[in-house]
Amino acid sequence: MTSDLLQVSDAQVEFHVAGGVVRALDGVSIRVTPGETVAVVGESGCGKTTLARAVLGLQPLSNGKITLTGEEVRGTPRRLAERVGMVWQDPYASLNPKWRVGRSVLEPLYLSGRKGSPEKIFEEVGLDPRFVDRYPHQLSGGQRQRVAIGRALALKPPLVICDEPTAALDLSIRAQILNLLKDIQKSNGCSFLYISHDLTTVRFLADRVAVMYLGRVVEEGPTEQIFTDPRHPYTAALLESAPSLEKLMHLPEPPVGEVPDPKTRFIGCRFAGRCPNAADQCIGEDPPRTVEADRSYFCHLPVKTS
Ligand code: SF4
Repeated sequence: MTSDLLQVSDAQVEFHVAGGVVRALDGVSIRVTPGETVAVVGESGCGKTTLARAVLGLQPLSNGKITLTGEEVRGTPRRLAERVGMVWQDPYASLNPKWRVGRSVLEPLYLSGRKGSPEKIFEEVGLDPRFVDRYPHQLSGGQRQRVAIGRALALKPPLVICDEPTAALDLSIRAQILNLLKDIQKSNGCSFLYISHDLTTVRFLADRVAVMYLGRVVEEGPTEQIFTDPRHPYTAALLESAPSLEKLMHLPEPPVGEVPDPKTRFIGCRFAGRCPNAADQCIGEDPPRTVEADRSYFCHLPVKTS
């Protein structure tokens, strides 16, 4: 059995807001093994980015535990830099506009008292080494994201979190960035926690997928099983609403119904108000976790497609 690189166990994050408490993470458990890519998918506000922030030590847990390379993560982001790198959605916002990009990629090394060559890092991410003296505004969106990836990898962390890394890029550039991530993983063996609502990129990149809904992981398993044979009705609705080549002429519809107020205290399944399969049992009882081989889901009346 492979040991886990990242283990998130029953993680809970609460935000106190006017009118109540929002549980952004409500008992989330996820694991990532060495060299694996795990994607976290779900609609906006489901808790994906809060999960990333918690793994980075930027968001304290109100309950549960996160361990990375066997050590518990506790609000010490700088100390974590050697174990986890981060690629944000908008490379322009994540690079200091007043710094030459060569300085930006070396920042993690400086902070940990090491030296390095920006040209070498640029080569590793497919950038012309002569670009080290440029400023972010002198690069294209794809080149800036390569710089951001180079910075995330500068310390060779075993885990890199990518939060919607291609969302701000043109379609043609997205493929290049995804191929770069795959190549990097092949050459240095790192793992990715890949956060996205773009299911096409998830299917291309991920080994496993965790589907989140309102602060919980409702289904988790190997990518192809999740895409071809979903068990949870929310997963099935997400896949149905995803754009595809066949549906190019139609705007994708979001899964039916409104997302409930996140301040709601749920009794029973939190997807019940939107679920086509909902029955009395779903409204009264929290669905149990069902494990089938190497996948799991929380649903009283799962979809059976094969
Ligand atoms: Fe739908 Fe019931 Fe399953 Fe919830 S538990 S997803 S309401 S079938």
